[in-house]
Amino acid sequence: MLAPQIEADGADPLFELGLAGRDRYRDLAAELLEDTGIDIGLWNEGIAQLATDEQQIPELKSKVAWQRQQGYLCDWLDAAEARDRWPWTGPAFGALWAPHDGALDPTSLVRALRADAERRGARLVADGATRIEHQDGRVTAVVGADRYPTQHVVIAAGAWSGRIEGLPRPLSVEPVRGQMVALPWPAEIPRAVLYNRDCYLLARGSEALAGSTMEFAGFDTAVTSQGVERILACLATLCPPLSGVRPLRTWAGLRPVTPDGLPIVGPAPGLDGLWYATGHGRNGILLAAITGLIISQLVAREPTHEDVSLLSPERYWRW
Ligand SMILES: Cc1cc2nc3c(=O)[nH]c(=O)nc-3n(C[C@H](O)[C@H](O)[C@H](O)COP(=O)(O)OP(=O)(O)OC[C@H]3O[C@@H](n4cnc5c(N)ncnc54)[C@H](O)[C@@H]3O)c2cc1C
Repeated sequence: MLAPQIEADGADPLFELGLAGRDRYRDLAAELLEDTGIDIGLWNEGIAQLATDEQQIPELKSKVAWQRQQGYLCDWLDAAEARDRWPWTGPAFGALWAPHDGALDPTSLVRALRADAERRGARLVADGATRIEHQDGRVTAVVGADRYPTQHVVIAAGAWSGRIEGLPRPLSVEPVRGQMVALPWPAEIPRAVLYNRDCYLLARGSEALAGSTMEFAGFDTAVTSQGVERILACLATLCPPLSGVRPLRTWAGLRPVTPDGLPIVGPAPGLDGLWYATGHGRNGILLAAITGLIISQLVAREPTHEDVSLLSPERYWRW
């Protein structure tokens, strides 16, 4: 999902970056299609967050008001309007409507980015990095099954980032498991992306993707019956026509999460040539393209597209 307006809580420090991340895909999707022939499935037709009881209305309305005050398109739909747009949903006492939020297909995005990188001369090597080597305050190599001499290394190993040896300081990135369920999208319902407080539903191709859990389960990517049941119970409220429908598949992934919930993006203090691009939590797809752009600008010592001082690795290492 590309949902900065849905995910943001008031004056969230990631709000502006999230919007820039979302909007960057407009150009990138067209460029990738032209250059690689791969469609990343960009869909910008809006996301709604429903109030499923009256108590949720003030919080959602104040989120709408705050975003409008900042000059962004965001609407409050009353219960009748929400029912009109999504007659198939369960209880809806109103909805926050973010007309520019949307989604893409992350698998196609990765395929397109890989193809584009190779087209531009990158050589992709499948290896697991175990260690970073450095000498005299400068990175010299990445070591895995093989050794790769280099002047620059970007640590972008998701929840596993802190496991790489040779980093100058411990890295606070922990895995938070998220389980997902896919069901057949009901043929009579138009494509949509809907959230409520406890889950979300997204149409992709012929499937309805529903999620997700937020669990501290270490590096365990098992799908559990409790996790799936929780998602299906919430889905029965969000989309009653899917109630009792047999899932097509289930899976789980690990979000890389930092103690303050902000990604870690920037140079490692005290070690030239080492860069971090990790800890993106729930928003790593939304922020993938903008993070790539920012890291390339930092490495080239150019001004960055967005101010990322709040994401600096130094915030953890002032001792
Ligand atoms: C259920 C679920 C739903 C989500 N929904 C959304 C969403 O709607 N929108 C959104 O923006 N984000 C979403 N996220 C979050 C998003 O998936 C993550 O933030 C994002 O994947 C993080 O990207 P990353 O590249 O940092 O890490 P990852 O995607 O985890 O990729 C890290 C890669 O590094 C590899 N690796 C690990 N260690 C090494 C090593 N030592 N050497 C070499 N390679 C290594 C791993 O195998 C992996 O391929 C969701 C996450 C989950 C689990």
